[in-house]
Amino acid sequence: MRIPRGFRFGGVASGLKPKNRDLALVVSDHPAAAAGVFTVNKACAAPVLDARPRLPAEGMRAVIANSGNANALTGPGGLDDVAVIRGAVADVLGIQKRSVLAASTGVIGARLPTMKVLAALPALAEQLGDRAELAAEAIMTTDTRAKMASREVMLGGKQAVIACIAKGSGMLAPQLATALAIVTTDAAVTPKALQEVLGRAVQKTFNMLTVDGEMSTNDTVLALANGLAGNPRIGEAGPDLEVLEAAVSDLFGEMARAMAADGEGATRMAEVVVAGAPSDEIARDCARSVASSPLVKAALFGADPNWGRILATVGARAGAQGWTVDPFKARVVLQGVPVFANGGPVEFDREALRVKLRETRVDVLVELAEGTARAVAWGCDLSYDYVKINADYASVIVQQPDGMVARDDHVTNYSPAFKRALLVEALKYIADFSGQVAVVKYGGAAMVKESLKEAFAEDVALLKRVGLKPVVVHGGAPEITKTLERLGERSEFVDGMRVTDAQSLPVVEMVLTGKVNQELVALINARGVSAVGLSGKDGKLVRAKKAVHESGRDLGYVGQVVEVNKKFLKMFLDQNHVPVISPIGLADDGGSLSINADEVASAIAVALGAKKLIYLTDVAGILESAPDGDLVRQLTVADLKRRLEAGAITGGMKWKAQAIFEALAGGVERVHVLDGRQPHSVIAELFTDRGVGSLVYA
Ligand code: ADP
Ligand code: MG
Repeated sequence: MRIPRGFRFGGVASGLKPKNRDLALVVSDHPAAAAGVFTVNKACAAPVLDARPRLPAEGMRAVIANSGNANALTGPGGLDDVAVIRGAVADVLGIQKRSVLAASTGVIGARLPTMKVLAALPALAEQLGDRAELAAEAIMTTDTRAKMASREVMLGGKQAVIACIAKGSGMLAPQLATALAIVTTDAAVTPKALQEVLGRAVQKTFNMLTVDGEMSTNDTVLALANGLAGNPRIGEAGPDLEVLEAAVSDLFGEMARAMAADGEGATRMAEVVVAGAPSDEIARDCARSVASSPLVKAALFGADPNWGRILATVGARAGAQGWTVDPFKARVVLQGVPVFANGGPVEFDREALRVKLRETRVDVLVELAEGTARAVAWGCDLSYDYVKINADYASVIVQQPDGMVARDDHVTNYSPAFKRALLVEALKYIADFSGQVAVVKYGGAAMVKESLKEAFAEDVALLKRVGLKPVVVHGGAPEITKTLERLGERSEFVDGMRVTDAQSLPVVEMVLTGKVNQELVALINARGVSAVGLSGKDGKLVRAKKAVHESGRDLGYVGQVVEVNKKFLKMFLDQNHVPVISPIGLADDGGSLSINADEVASAIAVALGAKKLIYLTDVAGILESAPDGDLVRQLTVADLKRRLEAGAITGGMKWKAQAIFEALAGGVERVHVLDGRQPHSVIAELFTDRGVGSLVYA
């Protein structure tokens, strides 16, 4: 994100939330024109009551925003708290109190612990700089990702930057999830014009972000424009105002889509376009109604091409409002596939469309035949998790004596209904899995962080206890690199595979079999399950030959699997041991070859007839694109091939893709790619209906 001239950002943890950043500060070094758009909820929060009557205005300098506590419905004390915080921000920055705006988001009804905010202010002021991501992070509540973006525009021959940080987890439930956006720009614009721009941009974007139609107590969009770009000040309608409005709308559109995609429990985002409507208002209403229909949203979760529910929603609105909209003349298109036209259903390949509907973004187009107005709305699907989160929500929010509001997610705090559901779900899988072999490739961050190692060992022991036969294959890249560095050797990687010369081979082997393997065996053994450490050389477990990279590049002592000694491995499983295998292969000449652990895991899964193969790595799963793309939750072999050929899968993930093809071709039913940075992700994947990573199936 580009930072507009003269703005500084900061974000710290003040203790409003148990551990994360929760206090953001945005400062303009020059007095700025300011505008704001707020919730129309009459039960609005104190900072909204404080800011709304003061905007639009000149001479604003700072926005202080906190998460964790909404300061809403907290009684008359709520406004006092805002005043105290504004005064303290003014003091610490040496500016006037009236030039400070405040915003809050979080839990309703708990008094804001102002002392914590005041205590954190000096450090926050100290930290001010160009790291806008710190501020974006500090306003997150149930968001799983920070949201920020910027645009550059030319205004009156001068280049100006417009930036936005925002939060909102899509599901606009009244408690934790509100939308908050702070816009900063160096464009010169009057407060009145800025207010108009903001109002219209919000109308087309945040107001078209619909989840449950509920208006929160805290929704706030604030904008500061300090004029440092030096453009002729925008005050009247004209080309500059249009450019500014287009950029702000575009920016808000991106934020709204990010919020929809990040909804509580949401598995996919929906963009609903209604075209051919008699008026803008009708287009907007229809788009919003479709995007917020519980039946449409449930169908989205089920990847069900249910156009009937879409047309029913449009027809219902038209009937209730008395609009001249004829649903029979509409055309409905899902993911680019026409499903309804000319007054009746269109033939389409149901299975193919279902696959498309499993993608993380679903496009719904309703073309009416009544006019030319068009509107876009954003929403998300309605998942089991949404109900779980929100039905059980109240019982897991706990207020501490010091005013901190925290979420205690321990299962004991959930309702009996939730606990029953969870146990039944888990036990069902336990019964299914009993006696099955599951091969787990252990790699990524899970291998480095102590707490994750422990969690992994615990998971393996648990799997064993409930009757599964786990086999662990581990990597060791970070540890090997560290050791080689200590010996003064640099590591070179080709597509995520280490080039291994005669000098580094013994180091690689030593670290893998002598250190990583031993540690893992000890951790699992400590949990009362017998783990046995094996190298591919033991019992000729993995016979290998030298591998050649597709580029023709010589990778040195890097091998590929020729054969797995299935009998030898079965012996350990029959004796109730958990084999823990290092990815070292035995060459024909009796020497060692280093093999990518992904490949070893796949070959072992095939040899043992395993139904499941699990890759623990340090990304959320298979992503649309690395490193920041959306998670692809389910994909077929064909999907994976397509992504690989399109160049969307690179580096270490390429090896995994190759290994996955081989596993599925060899009879493994399902391959999971999971986020090893999340503790207990193996358990979460195997024992709950909706897993946590990517699932690849034949
Ligand atoms: P591991 O230790 O789990 O084998 P790797 O680094 O070998 O980890 O492989 C995972 C890496 O692959 C990711 O960290 C990411 O940088 C890269 N990668 C490339 N393309 C993708 C993609 N489409 N989805 C996920 N990861 C990808
Ligand atoms: Mg790897």
